[in-house]
Amino acid sequence: MSIRILAPELVAQIAAGEVVERPASVVKELVENALDAGASRIEVEAEGGGRRRIRVADDGCGIPAAEVPLAFARHATSKLSTVEDLFRVATLGFRGEALAAIAAVARVTCRTRATEEHLGVELRIEGGRIIGQRPLVRPPGTEMIVEDLFFNTPARLKFLRGEGTEKRQIDLWITRYALAYPDIHFVWRHNGREVFSMPAVREPRHRIAAIYGAELADALLEVSEETEEVQVHGWISLPGVNRPDRHELVFFVNGRWVQDRMLPTAVLQAYHALLPSGRYPWVFLWVKLPPERVDVNVHPAKIEVRFRDPEAVFLAVQRAVHRTLRESTPVPVFQKAEIPMRTTEFSARPAPMPLGALVEKLEEEKASSGLPPLRVVGQIQARYIIAEGPDGLYLLDQHAAHERVLYEALQAQRQEGPLPAQPLLQPMLIDVSPEEMSLLEENRSLLEELGFRIEPFGPRNVRLQAVPAVLSAEAILSVFQDLLLDLQESRRPVEGALEAQLIRSICKRAAVKAGQVLSVEQMQHLVRALEQCAMPWTCPHGRPTILRFPIGQLARQFGREE
Ligand code: ADP
Ligand code: MG
Repeated sequence: MSIRILAPELVAQIAAGEVVERPASVVKELVENALDAGASRIEVEAEGGGRRRIRVADDGCGIPAAEVPLAFARHATSKLSTVEDLFRVATLGFRGEALAAIAAVARVTCRTRATEEHLGVELRIEGGRIIGQRPLVRPPGTEMIVEDLFFNTPARLKFLRGEGTEKRQIDLWITRYALAYPDIHFVWRHNGREVFSMPAVREPRHRIAAIYGAELADALLEVSEETEEVQVHGWISLPGVNRPDRHELVFFVNGRWVQDRMLPTAVLQAYHALLPSGRYPWVFLWVKLPPERVDVNVHPAKIEVRFRDPEAVFLAVQRAVHRTLRESTPVPVFQKAEIPMRTTEFSARPAPMPLGALVEKLEEEKASSGLPPLRVVGQIQARYIIAEGPDGLYLLDQHAAHERVLYEALQAQRQEGPLPAQPLLQPMLIDVSPEEMSLLEENRSLLEELGFRIEPFGPRNVRLQAVPAVLSAEAILSVFQDLLLDLQESRRPVEGALEAQLIRSICKRAAVKAGQVLSVEQMQHLVRALEQCAMPWTCPHGRPTILRFPIGQLARQFGREE
């Protein structure tokens, strides 16, 4: 076959493949156009998961009659005029290809009237060719009807999934934009039935409630942070309200839903040590920065962005989330959603406090964590501490609580210098693999700063000469095994992560065990020490340290009216 220039219709169909993958991508592009047009109400309808028919109607600025055919030409846009504009895009669309791409692979009817004109227009296009145009009386705004998607590209039609799947993809996009723009009324109907109608609200939190329910919305904390360059605002869940996947880590950058790797990392690092492993928070964050600081022209469907200064954005997001989490000290309430309690300043840092030293004298200090002062009542199963607070009954997991206390103490000590080491009277000889040997070598200086002194002893053995002073003799072997595992898993680039992981392992082995009987004094000291913690409500692995049974709930469950 000789070389030929492709027919324009064919070029348009090929390009459509990038923009229009499925009915949901049509909905996404049309909703974006409605948003760019300044609509205050957007109605989306679909039939058959959008394969049969999609209709998006808005009350935005409309398209001037003379420009309507142009709107469907490739690379026709009203949103950019110079090359520089491409580097400061303030609208959702900017490439001028969505309408052309959609019209190339479907039957499209466009009805529109520009605000400043008296008469509207109806244009009909099939497979990229205009087949009809007539004047029309209608209110300002635009209505786009897209029927028989991929009718002329059977290969692509075959890739579509069932009605239910395609409908759910549309749900996802409408939900994203409904969240991103709470001040706009969204209506969504499928097969003639209303899926939802969400009137405009002033606060994004109310939109979150409309979509996910008031219970979740009430359990969220507000995040707000502004630097010279970046504005971060939104809502995040308390560590106790979590889910098994990352699907609800939602980010909008300048009003655009984006899929990004850096933003979730920043958030999850801020939750570090507050969530159990494999659990993720709910996060809805609106990130705003000047349009010239973010490149939106990096992905065909515009769902990825590139920041000019990624580090500034990363830090702003991480700091915002971290500060919010630190400032709220909720105690999980038994069998109910967590109730956040406002906190005072976190000033006092706990002194390092192995439980042996806790029988020593500890001066009364005002609780700084927001935990109320607790009176120890007793211990059950040699595992849990029962305590009374002003507003109810509290149950503490003694191991988790002590882990938290030790973790903060050791972290504080690390700010000052190396952790104290305790030489072993009888150095221990331990078998290691060549890989473990080299890991120990590579991390030698960090391990020494944490209190481990480990010397090679022949090709397959090391001699353990000293361990962190906080460890008791029987914990040494297991801590060393943890350490080898931590080192193996540490081959990821997050700086500081290895040290924190090692410290968590030390705490896990040093903390009082479940099954250990404690004296009332020991329990009292542990509770006091927890009150001093900056983040007392979870252990360093993210499990709860303390549960609260509100007094009112007890009364209700005993059938008392109070
Ligand atoms: P882009 O959004 O990248 O500009 P599109 O192909 O999606 O490209 O739209 C082309 C042009 O058509 C837009 O720039 C805009 O001027 C006009 N347009 C499309 N949809 C609407 C609408 N709902 N309301 C007003 N104008 C619209
Ligand atoms: Mg567009």
